[in-house]
Amino acid sequence: MASSPDKAGHAAMGHFPVDHGEVLIGGIPVTRLARRVGQTPFYAYDRRLMTARVDQLRARLPQAIHLHYAIKANPMPAVVCHLAGMVDGLDVASLGELRVALDTGMAPTRISFAGPGKGDHELMAATAAGVMVSLESEGEMERLARIADETGIRPRVAVRVNPDFELKRSGMKMGGVPSPFGVDAERVPAMLRRMGETGLDFQGLHIYAGSQNLRPDAIVEAHELTLELACRLAAAAPAPVRWLNIGGGLGIPYFPGDAPLDPGPIGDHLAARLPAVKKNLPHAEIIMELGRYLVGEAGVYICRVIDRKVSKGRTFLVTDGGMHHHLAASGNLGQVVRRNYPVVIANRMGDAVQETVTVVGPLCTPLDRLADTIDAPRAIPGDLVLIYQSGAYGFSASPHGFLSHPAPVEVLV
Ligand SMILES: *Cc1c(COP(=O)(O)O)cnc(C)c1O
Repeated sequence: MASSPDKAGHAAMGHFPVDHGEVLIGGIPVTRLARRVGQTPFYAYDRRLMTARVDQLRARLPQAIHLHYAIKANPMPAVVCHLAGMVDGLDVASLGELRVALDTGMAPTRISFAGPGKGDHELMAATAAGVMVSLESEGEMERLARIADETGIRPRVAVRVNPDFELKRSGMKMGGVPSPFGVDAERVPAMLRRMGETGLDFQGLHIYAGSQNLRPDAIVEAHELTLELACRLAAAAPAPVRWLNIGGGLGIPYFPGDAPLDPGPIGDHLAARLPAVKKNLPHAEIIMELGRYLVGEAGVYICRVIDRKVSKGRTFLVTDGGMHHHLAASGNLGQVVRRNYPVVIANRMGDAVQETVTVVGPLCTPLDRLADTIDAPRAIPGDLVLIYQSGAYGFSASPHGFLSHPAPVEVLV
């Protein structure tokens, strides 16, 4: 994949080829795909790109590292099914995701359930299914212990640790601060001692330090601290650590200036550290859980130009898609500063750049912006606007009900 920045400073999006002026998705020209889908807007996910991503990553990681897919990045059942055939396990964060994961046929022993605020019905479902429960608090442990007594089933559990360090320069910090996620590292030993008095089947530890990171050195540092912390906490455990989830956090380039992450140094570091970990934790299976990195670059969002208008010298392309479908691209999913995702006129890739336009959606709010003053060929109503890097936290992370327009369609091609 080419990685030199284009004129706007976005990383090259060469993973979707262009032919006769059209972006190809799964080998299909975008206008033909739009006809096949039967409507705009829609999300399209390219299965070959997901397969290639898993293969490339596995080639750079030690064989002993197990790869899990965190479903919340893209829970479309067809996508989860496709990935289930390639990864070693699935991570879910709700009962709905648990159902999708079980539907794939993945063995329950290879599914884990994390997330704060799991209800008793969710703990019961996880227990009945036989999946691993990542405990987020002492209170949750006590509730699950009661379910174990009531059902006579011994749930397999891990303790999710709120680490005493952070993944530096992350899109989202998940460690080193007061957190609803996991149990503060210094409280874990007491929790593990208490667990020994319950009917819970201790399996291991879950340490997740951050998300959307493009710096291999920062991820390596977090892994180093994660492995140290795990070895320290294992001393207080009621049983050997068999399951050690070291998180993930591998990011993808979204904005001008972002360069693709090279996972090479991450794999090299793990390869160097594994012999010592094996010595300290001889029964532990080591897991990396990834969402965005496996699916984010394989997806695009496509909408249609409905209108062109000029206001006080600025040209607006008004489309049938917007923030209600793709909150992240509009800059409203946790971003501090709004920056453009890579956006193109997907059926005019061969045309010369002619103008600067702002791409908006149909919602009556100034928040509904998909691209702010980008250089583009001249687009007219009927043309297709495409947003790259839309395979993760797109469809399911957007407020479809806002303004009561129809929801987009999703296809896997
Ligand atoms: C969200 C989440 C992930 C996936 O994060 P990505 O940035 O999409 O890779 C993994 N583990 C846990 C615990 C999460 O909450």
